[in-house]
This record gives sequence, C-alpha cells and structure tokens, in this order.
Amino acid sequence: MPPMQVDVLIRGDGAVGRSLALALSHQGLRVGLQGRAEARPQDVRAYALNAGAQALLRRLKVWDSLPPDAKTPVQDMQVFGDQAGGRLNFSAWQSHLPELAVIVDAAELDTALDAALRFAPHVQRVDPALPHQLLALCEGREARGLEAHGIQVERRAYGHHALATRWVSELPHQGRAWQWFGAGGEVLALLPMDRPTPGHSYAMVWSQPADEAQRRAALAPEALAAELQPLTQGRVGTLSPAGPAQAWPLSLLRATPTVRPGLALLGDCAHQVHPLAGQGLNLGLADVAALAEVLAKREPWRPLGDLALLRRYERQRALDTWMMATVTDGLWHGFAHDAPWARLARNQGLAVVDALGPLKRWFAQQALGHRAVPVSSNAPTAARPHP
Ligand SMILES: Cc1cc2nc3c(=O)[nH]c(=O)nc-3n(C[C@H](O)[C@H](O)[C@H](O)COP(=O)(O)OP(=O)(O)OC[C@H]3O[C@@H](n4cnc5c(N)ncnc54)[C@H](O)[C@@H]3O)c2cc1C
Repeated sequence: MPPMQVDVLIRGDGAVGRSLALALSHQGLRVGLQGRAEARPQDVRAYALNAGAQALLRRLKVWDSLPPDAKTPVQDMQVFGDQAGGRLNFSAWQSHLPELAVIVDAAELDTALDAALRFAPHVQRVDPALPHQLLALCEGREARGLEAHGIQVERRAYGHHALATRWVSELPHQGRAWQWFGAGGEVLALLPMDRPTPGHSYAMVWSQPADEAQRRAALAPEALAAELQPLTQGRVGTLSPAGPAQAWPLSLLRATPTVRPGLALLGDCAHQVHPLAGQGLNLGLADVAALAEVLAKREPWRPLGDLALLRRYERQRALDTWMMATVTDGLWHGFAHDAPWARLARNQGLAVVDALGPLKRWFAQQALGHRAVPVSSNAPTAARPHP
C-alpha cells in the first residue's frame, strides 16, 4: 500500500521538480510529486545546458537515455552587436573546453525525465498533497500565492516575449550557435540541433516586444523566415520551417527568502532571468543539486524542514542566481538602449572583448556556465532508512 505521508512533497513537475524528485529518491527519501493534470502542447524549445546541468542529469540516469540526435554540442558561437558592426566569437577550442554547451530538445528531456521517474523508487504522483516534512516549490513561472508563505516576489516584466520554433537550413550548422542583438532589445538566437535533419537544424529563440511576437507567431513560416533576414543577413543560409512557433512572456523575478521553515523554492519559482544567456534551467538544476546535497549531508537529528539546514541551501545558491540575474538584465538593458552612444559602447565592447583572449575565455566559462556544480552524492549514510 502506498505510504500515507512523504518526506518531501514537490509541487510543480517541470524539469526542476522532476529532477529534484529523482535526486531525492536516489537518497532513499519518500517523495510526493504534485503536478497539473491538464495536457500541454509539446514544448518546441531547446535548452543550452552547461556542464553542471549535464553532470546532474547524468547522475540521475537521464542524460545517457536522451536520444543522440536530441543533444547537440556547441563548438562555436558568433554574437553580433547590431547591423552596424560589433562581433564576438567564442570557440570551445580557444576556451580549452570540450564544448561551449549542449543544446537539448526540451520535449525529449521531458520524456526522459518521465521515463526515469517511472523506475524511481520512493516517488509517487500525489493529488491531493500528503503530509510531509519539507515542501519544495517548483511551480515555475505559474507560482502563485508565495506571499502567503511569507515570501516576497519582485517581478519586472520585460514587455517582451520569446518566440521559439525550429528551422532547417540548406547549409550545415557545424556546431555553431548564432546570436544577434537588434534594436530595442530584440535578441535572436539560432542554436544548432541535429533534429529533424542531422547537422542542418536550428532551434530559434527570438525575444522581441510582445505585440511583435504575437504578430510574428501568426505569420506563415515563409513570411517569418523573411523577417529574420535583416538580422541574419543570410549567414545561416535559407531556412525552411520545421515546427510550430510558441511564445513565452519574459520577466525578471526574484523571490526572497527562498526558504522558510519546512519550505524551499527552486527553479523559475525562485528566480527568472531573461533567456538571452540560456541560463534559467541551468540555474534551476543547480538549485536541485545544491538542495539534494544539503539534505544528504544533514546531521541525522535534523528534520528535513529545519530552517538552519535549508539556509545552507539558500546561501549556496544566492550569489550564483544574483549574478546571473544582474548580468543578463544589465546586458539586455545595455543592448535595448537605442541612443547612438549606447550603440557605440556595445559594439566597441564586443570588439574589445573579442580582442582579449583571457577575458574572452573567462566570459565563455561564466556565460556558458562551464563550471563544476556540486552534484549530490547518493550519501546512503545520511539518508533516513524507511521501514
Ligand atoms: C524561450 C525560452 C528559452 C529558454 N532557453 C533556455 C536555455 O537555453 N537554457 C536554460 O538553462 N534555460 C532556458 N530557458 C529557461 C527555462 O525554460 C526555465 O528556467 C525552466 O523551464 C524552468 O523550469 P521549472 O521546472 O522551474 O519551471 P516550469 O518549467 O515552469 O515548470 C513548473 C511546473 O509546475 C507546474 N505547476 C505550477 N503550479 C502548480 C501547482 N500549484 N500545483 C502543481 N503543479 C504546478 C506547472 O504546470 C509546470 O509544469 C528558456 C526559457 C524560455 C522562455
């Protein structure tokens, strides 16, 4: 008979909630996972995942179960300031990295997480909630009512939406990602993918004013491809449509504190950043790794919801999330400004950074998150055995 209570109740079953469920079940904790019942359209996004996120997913036995054509390494990245010039190039080879990031098909990641959960011991889907020691909120951008838990939420809408879709080009992508910063804060990214056509596919993320995104989402694919042309200037070849377009509203969000007695916030529910650096899920998976590690290393007498314990998690994550929010927000505002001086500064800035090898390497490592994020050990001695 399934248990009538769990150690940890996870509310929200996106990539962060599901990864947390797997990580805690590997420690022997009893986990209840509460999601939403409604069916959703298949996610057309692709995530640029850094080394820390990959390490966590590998440990959770998810990474190796992803189909090979659902994870494409990025070897090189070209960033353009605007049409007037300003160009920055990152290469894995120059930065002494095996790759800059790996682009992962979001729908395949969902499927792989689901499959791993089916084999995970101690995880049960629950609705309604069961009694628990710790509530982990992983409700993403839909989180509501955090104030009732004593959490303050600062949210600033960018007024932009990110339009995502897939393309296939007649030219091979050669593992190269492209990004263009256009006028008024538009950011277009084309990320290399191996599906549907190996070596020739791209996942697009185009953030732009909300009304433009809505207009463009309704365009015929050929008309949308034509609107990309002024930014890409043919650099990626002729693009043919390879899927529907979906749009997401963009906000900067910070919840404080991220822990209360018996409560922890993870992922987009705790922090949302502009997707221009492709870091939101990387941050969320780093939250998972940090919380799992803190819980695994707890003193045997400490309950899971102990505030002092949870503060260790909050302290571990505070700087990383603050830095990422500050850098992405600062970059976006820098590029969104249309004054001639701002345009000159960003183009000169890109050119200077491009000329300086060590600085560029540092940028590549920071911006693409190629750092060792601590990944929870199974730590069987720290986990409480269950009857
Ligand atoms: C266009 C775009 C491109 C992006 N690209 C990248 C990238 O390249 N790299 C990267 O690292 N990040 C990227 N991100 C960010 C990334 O998508 C998010 O950071 C990540 O999906 C957050 O995951 P999450 O699980 O925290 O939240 P979500 O994915 O929002 O999942 C939350 C889940 O909780 C459920 N839920 C909500 N409330 C409740 C409730 N009360 N009860 C039960 N369930 C509930 C929701 O239905 C949802 O399923 C991108 C974002 C966008 C918009």
